[in-house]
Amino acid sequence: MKIKVNAEACVGCGACTGVAEDLFEIGDAGVSTCKVAEIPADKEQEARDAMDTCPTGAIVEDVPEEKAA
Ligand code: SF4
Repeated sequence: MKIKVNAEACVGCGACTGVAEDLFEIGDAGVSTCKVAEIPADKEQEARDAMDTCPTGAIVEDVPEEKAA
C-alpha cells in the first residue's frame, strides 16, 4: 500500500511519528511526510494505526487511479 499526507490538513501534532516513526517524519515545514514510497507489508498495520490516530484525517491511502475509479 501507499499512503500520503495531506499537507494542508496536517497540523504537525506528531501523533503519526509517535505511532509509526519508521514511516513518518515532521519536515522543515512543520508537517508530516511519509518517509517511504511503498509501505512494507509488515508495516501496514502501523500505517493504519497512524491513519486512525491522526486527529485531522490528513493521512490517506494513496489509491492508484485505475483502482479508485
Ligand atoms: S498525526 Fe496527522 S496532523 Fe499530526 S503530524 Fe501526523 S499527519 Fe500531521
